[in-house]
Amino acid sequence: KNIQEMEEFGSSSEKESSGKTRILVFVRLRPMGKREKEAGSRCCVKIVNGRDLYLTEFANENDYLRLKRLRGRHFTFDASFPDTTNQKEVYSTTTAEVVEGVLQGRNGSVFCYGATGAGKTYTMLGTVENPGVMVLAIKDLFTKIRQRSTDGNHAVHLSYIEVYNETVRDLLSPGRPLVLREDKQGIVAAGLTQYRAYSTDEVMALLQRGNQNRTTEPTRVNETSSRSHAILQVTVEYQARDGGMNVVNRVGKLSLIDLAGSERALATDQRTLRSLEGANINRSLLALSSCINALVEGKKHIPYRNSKLTQLLKDSLGGACNTVMIANISPSNLSFGETQNTLHWADRAKEIRTKIAEANEEIMMKVPESESDQAKLLLELQKE
Ligand code: ADP
Ligand code: MG
Repeated sequence: KNIQEMEEFGSSSEKESSGKTRILVFVRLRPMGKREKEAGSRCCVKIVNGRDLYLTEFANENDYLRLKRLRGRHFTFDASFPDTTNQKEVYSTTTAEVVEGVLQGRNGSVFCYGATGAGKTYTMLGTVENPGVMVLAIKDLFTKIRQRSTDGNHAVHLSYIEVYNETVRDLLSPGRPLVLREDKQGIVAAGLTQYRAYSTDEVMALLQRGNQNRTTEPTRVNETSSRSHAILQVTVEYQARDGGMNVVNRVGKLSLIDLAGSERALATDQRTLRSLEGANINRSLLALSSCINALVEGKKHIPYRNSKLTQLLKDSLGGACNTVMIANISPSNLSFGETQNTLHWADRAKEIRTKIAEANEEIMMKVPESESDQAKLLLELQKE
């Protein structure tokens, strides 16, 4: 059954015999904002059939066939969400399968990407009335765990961290910056709070408080800095007896990432990338674009070590992981350039191949606790 479900993640025709799978890429268009309307902006994005997306710079550009021939004007994604799509639809199309995988011990990650104001935090965190992917994922996890509670024990732990200006901070317990260390499971932030979650109700409040701990610019104390990345990691551990004497241990990790604003930071060609590197630009996002370029080009060396963000996302980009990217865009023609840039990167991300995620599962023979257990075990073994 597991294999079948794995095949269903993404379209199986995309699977390659090399044991690799591509990441799924979605685009979400947000509604026109009040300020954009007041500035007299027009909508420059058209979504057709839930997949095709056209960028129409001028009001008379309704000839899709012509746009299809123009470079950078027509894109196709796993799904393109029009501005009427609600949070639940976004969750169930993009993330529900990843969450199912996590319960089966396979790592997953979902990241939101796009310019400042494009809707990343709305998609990830959302509001109390309209909770986003982070909250819906945890809700779904608890529902699924309750349905399976008769067979074994599950433990859910959360950690919420920020990468700002190459400093890693604990959003659930603000204090000194965290140091990244490498251990056999990969990169870990030493001393990070692991919050044990028992129900969905507490989680929204917890995450909102965490979000308030994100770094703000001194001049705009109410707004999260556009240079702040937030990463929610949810670890689901499962332990059960498999009928006989064995103990099954399984652990799946889900990473949900609200990236910093992508404006200016992501240049396509290496020369522009280098010229930006000296400038005071988000190093983590630059490093992310270098890693994406290297992964797409099939390079042997992927420069994960160039930034804190890419170190933390190493598993999610190049490891065995179900990876989903949601690119957020504004409909306004005033953001045409940013939108085109975001779509360009989303289009490129479709070419990234990651290893097919396998279950992190361990089956151990149960150690007998008492002499009588030992005797029983001996008897059982003799029977075989
Ligand atoms: P970002 O995190 O990318 O900078 P936000 O998520 O903060 O952007 O969104 C900017 C504004 O647009 C916020 O006021 C947010 O509530 C609103 N918004 C974004 N996406 C949607 C959506 N799909 N539906 C309604 N409002 C949205
Ligand atoms: Mg935001």
